[in-house]
Amino acid sequence: MKPAPFRYAAPDTLDEAIALSDRFGDSARMLAGGQSLLAMMNLRIVRPEVVIDLNRVPGLAAWRQLDGSLRIGAMLRQQVLETPDGPTGALPLLGAAIRHVGHRATRSRGTVGGSLAHADPAAELPACMLALDAEIVAQSSAGERTIPAAAFFRDTFTTALSETEILCEIRVPVPSADRYGCSFIEIARRHGDFAVAAIACVVEGRADGRIGVAKLAMAGVGPVPLRLAEAELVLAGADPTGEAFAEAGRAAMRAIDPPSDLHATAEYRRAVAPVLVERALAEACRAASLEGAGDA
Ligand code: FAD
Repeated sequence: MKPAPFRYAAPDTLDEAIALSDRFGDSARMLAGGQSLLAMMNLRIVRPEVVIDLNRVPGLAAWRQLDGSLRIGAMLRQQVLETPDGPTGALPLLGAAIRHVGHRATRSRGTVGGSLAHADPAAELPACMLALDAEIVAQSSAGERTIPAAAFFRDTFTTALSETEILCEIRVPVPSADRYGCSFIEIARRHGDFAVAAIACVVEGRADGRIGVAKLAMAGVGPVPLRLAEAELVLAGADPTGEAFAEAGRAAMRAIDPPSDLHATAEYRRAVAPVLVERALAEACRAASLEGAGDA
C-alpha cells in the first residue's frame, strides 16, 4: 500500500518547525526516523495532510550531561545507545534495552524521541524512561513544557503532547548510588519484535547490603508502560532474597491487566510477568553487588 496524498515540509530550524506545526495543527505529523510513521501511513492507519520532517532541524540529535541529568535530543538515533562511548555509559539500562528495539537497520534511522512520541505500549524505551523517572521536554509557540514520563504516556499511541508540540529533549537523572544495578528482560516472539512482555529494572543498594530503592516498569502489559509501584514498596529496605523477589513478582501480577492479542494471551502475560520481575531483580541486584542476590 502507499500513503494517502500529503504535503511535505523540511524546516531548517526549530522555529520554522514550530510555525509549521502551529499552522497545520493535528493535520500534520512530525517525521523523525520514519520507522513507525511511514509504516502507519503506508497502511493508511494515519493520513496526515502535511508531514513536517525534523531531520534537518539542528540541535535535536545531541546528547550531554548537565546538572546531574543526561539530556538526550529527540532526534538522537537509537543506534547511538549501542555505542560504548554514548549516553549509556551513564545510563546502562538504555544500553541493555536498545538491543531489543527492532533491528540494526531500524535503529540506524529510528530516534529516541520518536519511540516515545509513538507510544507503542510494547516499546522498550518508554518503559525505560518510566523506570528512570525521565522528563520529556516539548516546545511549541506557547513555549517550553517539561512533562514527567509518569504523565506522558496517556494511552496506546497517545501521549500528553499537544497537537502542536514538538518533543525536543529527554532528561534523565544520572544515577548516583554507589551500589547501582539495572537489567532489561524481554519476551518477544522473535528477536527484534515488539515485546510480548518486558521489564525495565533499576536497583540502588544500601551499605548494609539491602535494597534501598527498586524501580520497575513493564512494557506489553497494558495500554501504556506500567510502573510497578506496589512491587517497589515491597522491595524498599528488603534483603535481596528470592522470597523478596517472589513477593515483588506477586505484587506485579496483581498490578497488571494485560491484553490478549495475536502475540499472546492475557493469561500468558500474567504467567510470565512475575518470572520476568524475579529474573530482572536477581540480575540487577547482582550488578549492584548486593550479596546473596536471589538466594533462597
Ligand atoms: P517516526 O516513525 O518518524 O514517528 C513516530 C511517531 O512519533 C509519529 O506519529 C510522529 O509524528 C511522532 N514523532 C516523532 N518524533 C516526534 C517529535 N520529535 N515530536 C513530536 N512527535 C514526534 N520499536 C520498539 O520500541 N521495539 C521494537 O521491537 C521495534 N521493532 C521494529 C521493527 C521494525 C521492522 C520496524 C520498522 C520498527 C520497529 N520499531 C520497534 C519501531 C522503531 O523503534 C521506531 O523507530 C519508533 O517506534 C519510532 O521512532 P522514529 O524516529 O522512527 O519515529
